[in-house]
Amino acid sequence: MSDVRRPVATGGCQCGAVRYALLSGPEGSVCHCRMCQKAVGGPFAALARLPKDDVVWTRGRPAAFRSSASGLREFCRDCGTPLTFAYDDARHMEVTIGSLDRPGGTPPQRVFGVESRLAWVADLVPGRLPEMRSDELPARDRTSRQHPDHETPADWKPL
Ligand SMILES: [Zn+2]
Ligand SMILES: [Zn+2]
Repeated sequence: MSDVRRPVATGGCQCGAVRYALLSGPEGSVCHCRMCQKAVGGPFAALARLPKDDVVWTRGRPAAFRSSASGLREFCRDCGTPLTFAYDDARHMEVTIGSLDRPGGTPPQRVFGVESRLAWVADLVPGRLPEMRSDELPARDRTSRQHPDHETPADWKPL
C-alpha cells in the first residue's frame, strides 16, 4: 500500500538536491542556543516541529552531523543548507523553517535557548535600524540558481 496522506507542506535545500514533504502541520519555534547558532550559521535557528513519521524525503537524502551524543543535524551535502534537528530517542523532529517553501506559514510559538540570545536580536524589529529592499542594492546579475519555492520535476536543474 502506498502512503495516501497528502503533504501539508514541502521544502528543501537551496540547490534542490534534497526535497521533503511534511504530512502534518508543524509547530514553529526559535532556538537561540549556541549549538543552533553554529548549526545554521546565524543568530538563532527557526525550527518547525512534527512527528518523525510525518517527514518524507521526496528527492535525494541529507547528510548528517552528530552535534551531541543524542542529537543529529541533517543538511544538504551539496549546498550546505541546514535541514533538520532530532534527538535519537524522540518521537518528534524539527525541520528548519527557512527551508520550507512557505516559511511564513509556520510562525514561532515558543522560544528556546534564551541564555544564549544575542543582545542585538532585539534591534531587528522593523524600524529600529536603516532598512533596504534587495532590489535597492547595487545592480548585479542576480539570476537565481536557487530551487524555486514549489515542487519541480525530478530532473530539475538550476540555471
Ligand atoms: Zn542542496
Ligand atoms: Zn538550539
